[in-house]
Amino acid sequence: MPRNLIQFQSGLSLPDFLKQYGSLSQCESALESSRWPQGFVCPHCHDTRHSAYFRKDKKRFQCARCRRQSSLTSGTVFDSSKLPLTT
Ligand SMILES: [Zn+2]
Repeated sequence: MPRNLIQFQSGLSLPDFLKQYGSLSQCESALESSRWPQGFVCPHCHDTRHSAYFRKDKKRFQCARCRRQSSLTSGTVFDSSKLPLTT
């Protein structure tokens, strides 16, 4: 299986990489904490008040101010990908 630069981080072995990012929920948690370290911020109005729910196994966020819905991957390079985050 081909590996990319993120998978070849110095000091991070393949077993350690898989331990940290091996499951979908681990990837989602890593992306969420990387994207919103202080918690969800609406990409449209920058409000932090929101509700979260799951639709088709994807976590979705609804802004309490503007009511727009966002996903964890919306607005990122993963947005239109059909591949799971683990890939
Ligand atoms: Zn908003």
